[in-house]
Amino acid sequence: MADEFDLIVIGAGPGGYVAAIRAAQLGLKTACVEKRGTLGGTCLNVGCIPSKALLHASELYEETAGGHLKKWGIGLGKVSLDLDAMLKAKDESVAGLTKGVEGLFKKNKVEWVKGSAQFKDKQTIAVSTNEGGKRELKAKNIIIATGSDIASLPNITLDGDRIIGSTEALSLPSVPKHLLVIGGGYIGLELGSVWRRLGSEVTVIEYMDRILPGMDQELAKAFERIIKKQGVTIRTGMKVTGVEALKTKAKVTVEPAKGGESEQIDADVVLVSVGRKPHTDSLDLKKAGLETDERGRIDINDDFSTHVPGIWAIGDVVKGPMLAHKAEDEGLACAENIAGLTGIVNHDVIPSVMYTMPEVASVGKSEEDLKAADIAYSVGKFPFMANSRAKTNGDTEGFVKILADKETDRVLGVHIIGSMAGTLIAEAALAMEFGASSEDIALTCHAHPTHSEAVKEAALAVHQRAIHM
Ligand code: FAD
Repeated sequence: MADEFDLIVIGAGPGGYVAAIRAAQLGLKTACVEKRGTLGGTCLNVGCIPSKALLHASELYEETAGGHLKKWGIGLGKVSLDLDAMLKAKDESVAGLTKGVEGLFKKNKVEWVKGSAQFKDKQTIAVSTNEGGKRELKAKNIIIATGSDIASLPNITLDGDRIIGSTEALSLPSVPKHLLVIGGGYIGLELGSVWRRLGSEVTVIEYMDRILPGMDQELAKAFERIIKKQGVTIRTGMKVTGVEALKTKAKVTVEPAKGGESEQIDADVVLVSVGRKPHTDSLDLKKAGLETDERGRIDINDDFSTHVPGIWAIGDVVKGPMLAHKAEDEGLACAENIAGLTGIVNHDVIPSVMYTMPEVASVGKSEEDLKAADIAYSVGKFPFMANSRAKTNGDTEGFVKILADKETDRVLGVHIIGSMAGTLIAEAALAMEFGASSEDIALTCHAHPTHSEAVKEAALAVHQRAIHM
């Protein structure tokens, strides 16, 4: 006999666990099936959180070992690296947060069904439990929130040792002498930054003629200059045609993307970071009457319903940027729609942040988007070099760039490179959500001395009236 619920959520990543909690808050009897031994999905276990823990720790290491504190009168003895302790601290952050989600499930009476879910029919889920048993669950509403997996290239097999994905790059047992990263997206650049700070020589190979595809090109170019200055070798317009794992190293064959002579590069570890693919293989979607599109995603309507009544999908498994906060917001809205409320996500205002130093953050349209859509726009820019707090702290790299509609002045996009970019972008997202003009931002009082004054000055610059430039 199947156990009956109002809602079954498959997957307990940021999309699934948030949807389950919100549904339970709204009075729905909710089960969440998760096969991993801990809750929180990719994000908490092998994504956002462990990568940010290592970015933070490696930044502290570089700051101290690199002698950067001397300027502030702080003298240190010999600084050493205890990689095991650093990895342990990262694991403790992950454990604390995943346990926290478990506590929230208990508090909200969401039942965590530990096992792997498969559709039996449109309303029935067969679970192979982690203890080796079988269980059947039934519900009128089912949310698919199974997230995504590491993608590779057709000619490369990950062995988890010398040729690795992001998960292994979060737990390398020693600092590789030479780390070669395939892919110049944000995950590769964040993890490349971690290991460079800890002592690796890092080479990034990118197929396109620029890193950070999709990001405003001016920002991507500026960041490329910065990361090269930090010592990372960036080779754009190059394709990897083969990787051979040998006993003591990997041999990577690369050639120009447009064709040309190939060359070989030796590396101790190769990190394949070419994107992620939606995770649906194990679900037996056909039994639910569902299919995936050419990129493996589940097709949804604006309210997150699929074409099969009662089946919904959110997060990395559907269209849009593969980001935790996008998955969370979709989880909230989807649960509300199922409960009969109106849940909406404004997909035009999803910020994205790369947590390197400096950080790179964006929301809304890039200049390239606006040109392609033939929208006339004004640009306001302000460098952190002219921001008093950034100057005082000695972190003057980067700038704020605001793109506003030429006619209405409505803010269409904000792009920031700077040590605080990930925090500052929230103001831009809020402004855009409320349909603010650049003048609205410019007339808002910003605390002094803060990096946020650069956002105000960039807004003033849209009308050529920045004060500190
Ligand atoms: P997931 O988090 O992938 O969760 C899906 C869950 O479903 C998994 O736990 C999986 O075990 C489970 N599952 C799958 N199939 C089944 C099944 N059949 N039965 C039961 N359970 C199943 N995003 C950001 O916004 N900020 C960042 O800083 C950031 N950093 C990242 C760093 C790295 C290294 C990586 C890899 C990703 C990062 N991301 C970041 C992306 C982010 O992790 C994802 O966008 C987010 O986790 C997607 O959430 P989700 O709920 O859709 O799916």
